[in-house]
Amino acid sequence: MRSSHQKFKASHLASHSYIYDLSAIALLLLPLTLSNAIAVLLGHTFNQLDYAAASNLFFHLSNLLINIYPLSFCVIAGYYLSHKTTFSSASFIIYSVTLFYLLSIESGSLSASFNFPNNPLLALLSASITYLYCYRFNLQQLEPQSLDFSSRLFKHVFHFFLFTSSALFLSKIMAKLVTYFTALIGSMNADPLTFSGGIVYQTILGLLGAIGINGHNMLFTIKQTIYADTQQNMADWAAGEASLNIINQGFYDAFLSMGGSGNTISLLLCILLFSKEKNHIMLALTALPLVMFNINEVLLFGLPIIFNPLLIVPFVALPIISFLMTYLAIFSGIISPVTNIVDWMTPPLFSGYIAMGDNIEGTLLQLVIIITGIFVYRPFYLAFAGKYALHNKSSITNASVEKSIFQHLLTNVRTSAASSLVHSSAQKRLSQMLHKDGFVMYYQLLQPIVKKDAISFEALLRYQDSAGNICPPTFISDFQLLKMMPTLDKLVIDKVLADMQKMPLSQNQRIAINISVASIEEEGFAEHLISRLEYFSIPPQWLEIEITEEAILNNSDNLLNTLEILRSYGIKIAMDDFGTGYASFPHLLKYPFDKIKLDRSLLLDATTPKGKQLYQLITKMGHIAECDVVAEGIETEEEFKFVVDCGVDKIQGFLISRPMPLSDVQKLLKLQDRIQS
Ligand code: C2E
Ligand code: MG
Ligand code: MG
Repeated sequence: MRSSHQKFKASHLASHSYIYDLSAIALLLLPLTLSNAIAVLLGHTFNQLDYAAASNLFFHLSNLLINIYPLSFCVIAGYYLSHKTTFSSASFIIYSVTLFYLLSIESGSLSASFNFPNNPLLALLSASITYLYCYRFNLQQLEPQSLDFSSRLFKHVFHFFLFTSSALFLSKIMAKLVTYFTALIGSMNADPLTFSGGIVYQTILGLLGAIGINGHNMLFTIKQTIYADTQQNMADWAAGEASLNIINQGFYDAFLSMGGSGNTISLLLCILLFSKEKNHIMLALTALPLVMFNINEVLLFGLPIIFNPLLIVPFVALPIISFLMTYLAIFSGIISPVTNIVDWMTPPLFSGYIAMGDNIEGTLLQLVIIITGIFVYRPFYLAFAGKYALHNKSSITNASVEKSIFQHLLTNVRTSAASSLVHSSAQKRLSQMLHKDGFVMYYQLLQPIVKKDAISFEALLRYQDSAGNICPPTFISDFQLLKMMPTLDKLVIDKVLADMQKMPLSQNQRIAINISVASIEEEGFAEHLISRLEYFSIPPQWLEIEITEEAILNNSDNLLNTLEILRSYGIKIAMDDFGTGYASFPHLLKYPFDKIKLDRSLLLDATTPKGKQLYQLITKMGHIAECDVVAEGIETEEEFKFVVDCGVDKIQGFLISRPMPLSDVQKLLKLQDRIQS
């Protein structure tokens, strides 16, 4: 039962990560997609204005951009995925592009005009295979200055040779598969210009779109045939030699992909009309200028629609419903057949008008389809939005932290090379760690001097690497560098609260969590913590938070407010690392602390009489401010004796206990419970 649950969780995370990866890649490619859209738009504008030379120039530019798209896709996917490995981005891209070329050449997927690889699906496949290869063999960077350069070089030559040879083998198999499937599709005799063939074609387009693949690119050869047949039929019709076919290129473009595949204009309107989710409304407004020209990547990857079990249903079904509506309207003679091929970027309502030969009937039919679509999307969207809201309130997962790291990667693409290099390696380290899901909490005992049973534990973050070693939290500086401490703190809060559910804690025992400066000052932190306590059903009286001194240097009202809210719930507040900063004393009076923790550095200074007196004095001051005083970092019997003589209330340090895993905490608490009863 447990393992099947874990398997489900793993596959859920994997698909979540796939969606996120695709969205990130699509976003990085957006400048190219949009430049192409602008070129097409200008091409048409100049054409209308009868500037043939300018118009041709922009159409040529668009053609170039379309040709460059699959290769750019491969490079960007490679660049992006390389950040999830220890391999250098440049080498990763060389591997991906080599594989992409081999697969494209062998399967004949090269564009007619420039001989460029023309299949984005193969581009994605190449980058993904490279990722699996680098991950499996743990390929490292090749650094010219490293001491073992020659042995590394030998390893790299071996790997590149092995990779390209396997790639060639793979491309041969691929070519056989492509031939087989082309023959299979041909033998199915599903002509997309017939009613049944059209339904099959449209369903395949929808299903491909639902997993993030642009069906129009994928089924490009079929599309070319539809286009040629349509032109032939229209020419015959104009010459009076044939009647117009009901289904043709204009039929598909004007009525079945308004606002992009899946008639997403209806979904966009549905969100604007019925959504209560601020994020979704913002997304819809951002996507609007593109959706007007039938470009829906922002919605497709932003919501997302792809791999989304709820939204896929209307996304696939609506174009089929629209197919039936358009077909029936023409077949029954309510409106006349489509007489023009419209450019796929022509905005909905206009496209219907042009497709029907400058006839308002087309616009009216589009309007009916769009309104129907809004109500087809509505129940599915509302169900999705309900789940989304719930998910937003629930747990922070490694995947979501990883996601925000890659959000930084996306913004960093634009920042300067030097700083982004430092950020980039921090991102690389963190995303690898998050991907392996190795974060665990360890707990260190705090022993009271008088009330022996009122023990508490400090939760300390650890990372368990793939060899099972437990590593100290040196990576915290990476989170600080990326300004992601609030995200890390939220992850830690969830981990600790989940652990606390398994701890047999009694009334006077507590668990302390370290919370960073940035989190405390963030608006809504207290509300977040309280809602998480409620979610995990943990009484707030069992919790304590430790704040480092620097946090308080900022002297903000927000901080005072947050601390007071937390205390009103019974959460205790400790000032951590007391004695390492500058502003300890005034703040002791200003803010409502329950506890101060004296840093080990104060103890190390207490070898001289002056140092000893200072330690004693600080302990007293803590008591005057009505705080409990904890001595941190006690390693020896002498230190122990000294701090007890100074009058501290609690002791923490390796002498008493090292940080331990949850299972040891459970044993210790049970033992404590038995001794008491
Ligand atoms: P801290 O909050 O002052 O935690 C106490 C640190 O002192 C821990 O180091 C602990 O292992 C170490 N320590 C305990 N007893 C002794 C001793 O007798 N001798 C010596 N030399 N050291 C002792 P750790 O776990 O490496 O953590 C270092 C710092 O990283 C923590 O200092 C805290 O500021 C931060 N940190 C750790 N876990 C978290 C976390 O979950 N969230 C946040 N925001 N920060 C964390
Ligand atoms: Mg601490
Ligand atoms: Mg400390």
